[in-house]
Amino acid sequence: MSYIGRFAPSPTGPLHFGSLLTAVASYCDAKTNHGKWLVRIEDTDIPRIYPHSEAHILSCIDAFQFEPDAEIIFQKDRLDLYEQVLEQLKQIQAVYACQCTRKMLGSNHIYAGTCRDLHLDFNQQAIRLKVADQLICFDDRLQGQQCSNLHHELGDFVLKRRDGIISYQLAVVVDDYLQGITHVVRGADLLDNTARQIWLGSLLNYPTLSYMHLPLAMNDQGQKLSKQNMAQALDTSKAPELLQQAILALGQPNIELDQPRIMLKQAVQQWNIALIPKGIHLAGIYL
Ligand SMILES: [Zn+2]
Repeated sequence: MSYIGRFAPSPTGPLHFGSLLTAVASYCDAKTNHGKWLVRIEDTDIPRIYPHSEAHILSCIDAFQFEPDAEIIFQKDRLDLYEQVLEQLKQIQAVYACQCTRKMLGSNHIYAGTCRDLHLDFNQQAIRLKVADQLICFDDRLQGQQCSNLHHELGDFVLKRRDGIISYQLAVVVDDYLQGITHVVRGADLLDNTARQIWLGSLLNYPTLSYMHLPLAMNDQGQKLSKQNMAQALDTSKAPELLQQAILALGQPNIELDQPRIMLKQAVQQWNIALIPKGIHLAGIYL
């Protein structure tokens, strides 16, 4: 089996324990399958980038002694590639310009397709991808079969915002394809993004990917760890201890404290996805 996996953090805040779980799981799963493990920084949403968080991500990769199998890529350097794919989507009439303002959309979570048949000029407008009224299903390696109907649950969704920002969905799908990614291992908070990404990939004739969505680490308020919820930044001076905690949180056999490189090697040897806790939340409390 060929396996290319990735760890793709967004620098909207420093990495926290939840990010470490994703890094460790994606790394061990790739390595135990004799695959490659790539790192990609998802920084297209420039207004949301948190100062110094890119540097923190890179210092964590170093401190935890992860060894990516290719140079780390930054999505903000790749905007031309996403624009090329948008052109492709225009040619096949899979997208259209939307002039709706946030105010016009109000609190509706499902876009009604207001601009779909208006044939507006793309200039200075948001760009939406047409979705179909059909069930999209995939078999998640941990969460089982997942199905959704984008037409009923979401409506046509944005690939490029009016302010020119390329959406996360577009950048992820294009880069997974260009990097030859075969396996996606990430947090269950991204589970409901997957149907959008599968739909977009299918319109572009990209190969389908294997997905594994990990249970999320929660804080004492029952919220997933995130920058918004004040999750603690990973302390690179405690890399071995944090690595050991991450392995245990993922239900894996313990690893002795040592240099992170050696600990990771042992974790890879022992990696068993059948031991990962079931569900979309971990039972413990994390900071
Ligand atoms: Zn519209």
